[in-house]
Amino acid sequence: MTTFNDFGLHADINRALAAKDYTQPTPIQMQAIPPLMKGRDLCGIAQTGTGKTAGFSLPSIHHLITYPHKTNPRSCRMLVLAPTRELAAQIAQSCRDYGRFTKLRVSTVFGGVPINKQIRDLSQGVEILVATPGRLLDLIDQRALRLDDVEIFVLDEADQMMDMGFIHSLRRIAKLLPSRRQNLFFSATMPKEIAHLAEQFLEDPVTVSVTPQATTAEKIRQFSTFVEQKEKQALLHHVIKTSDIDRALIFTRTKHGADRVVRHLKGAGIEAYAIHGNKSQAQRTTALQAFRSGQVRLLVATDIAARGIDVSGVSHVINFEIPNVPEQYVHRIGRTARAGAEGIAISFVAPDERTYLRDIERVTRTKSEPMALPEGFNELVRNLPKPAAPPRDTGSKGRNPQRQRDDALAGRGEGNRGNGQPRGDRGPRRDGAADGQPQRKRRFRPRGGKVGAHKGAVKRVG
Ligand code: AMP
Repeated sequence: MTTFNDFGLHADINRALAAKDYTQPTPIQMQAIPPLMKGRDLCGIAQTGTGKTAGFSLPSIHHLITYPHKTNPRSCRMLVLAPTRELAAQIAQSCRDYGRFTKLRVSTVFGGVPINKQIRDLSQGVEILVATPGRLLDLIDQRALRLDDVEIFVLDEADQMMDMGFIHSLRRIAKLLPSRRQNLFFSATMPKEIAHLAEQFLEDPVTVSVTPQATTAEKIRQFSTFVEQKEKQALLHHVIKTSDIDRALIFTRTKHGADRVVRHLKGAGIEAYAIHGNKSQAQRTTALQAFRSGQVRLLVATDIAARGIDVSGVSHVINFEIPNVPEQYVHRIGRTARAGAEGIAISFVAPDERTYLRDIERVTRTKSEPMALPEGFNELVRNLPKPAAPPRDTGSKGRNPQRQRDDALAGRGEGNRGNGQPRGDRGPRRDGAADGQPQRKRRFRPRGGKVGAHKGAVKRVG
């Protein structure tokens, strides 16, 4: 059986691994570390949760400490690109953990926070830089960073990068990298266009894959309930109250949808946070920390915001709305059943989402178990508490132009994908169907308009 000692990693790294109580390499680590130690390029098909961060950072850290040299000002020796701020922060933290007995400097740069501190951090140069593409290019444009000294380049969550419209940024970044470098490319899925992107970055790569494309983790029990869109909130309250939830991630398609769910939960006295691209960085960090520490056990998220979030102990994933791209479903439910634990995924399927469920079941080759609506459900719907009032300052879109730009970037990912992803929320949905407003108010809205607006929103994305 392979152990970390068999890889020949630097003693300082082995010490850090012992401190973290890692005894056994995960499958991706077993496959990836040996070729990476030899300097090979690597194409990894793996999701977060598989241990891929250690898979790419351990051999890279080994290289950086085995071949030390002084960094030039405003430069880095290893560059890791990640699609979201959360993932970037998480990768940087892992690198710090694994490199804690070394002198390597690790910096993170992403949007949504002031750029000046990042400029200062980079002024002397760093060994490892973890960045989101937009902010990285801003720093390059401001002459705060050059990429000539990059020895190791890692592109993480490439499929997500493409979904978020970062392709042009990636092309620009690729041109700024030196030609001699080691390249690592990770993606949870490998459809044709991602494979094509990989070819542009990689030279004679070793390919490793830990989860076959679009298969669902076996340890996740999947349920689905057919329910009207407007009754989903009542069902959610019921599921939360009657299930043995340690931590649950609740997915909505849109940012406003996520806020709405949280307001309803709050109205019913149930504590929850929302996390999505319209939240300020501080709000996202607070929400994530509260969720991680167990202070709040419900996190309502959009797909983009939740990608790459690694929180252990997520017992339930609830699909308040069904993604219309099956791979997205796989990513969502992959948030539970981490590290061999068992998890439960429950999907709330409105009539116009049934085709999405069918597509998901076809692609994942699994069938979810039907879960009936609870007895007395109509009563629950009728007695749904009113939502809490929206906060005056949602923390979104500060006056800070940089933040606006970053949010716009995030918005592009969550809202306006050109790849069949949800259109998202260019504005609050007009249908009122999902927000569970009291019956009295809804009667004033034309029903035809309601349904039409909703269907339209769904159709446009398909
Ligand atoms: P990742 O897929 O890189 O986000 O890692 C998922 C989680 O697994 C993180 O919390 C890591 O700290 C943890 N992890 C990674 N490798 C190992 C290992 N060999 N043994 C135990 N935990 C690990």
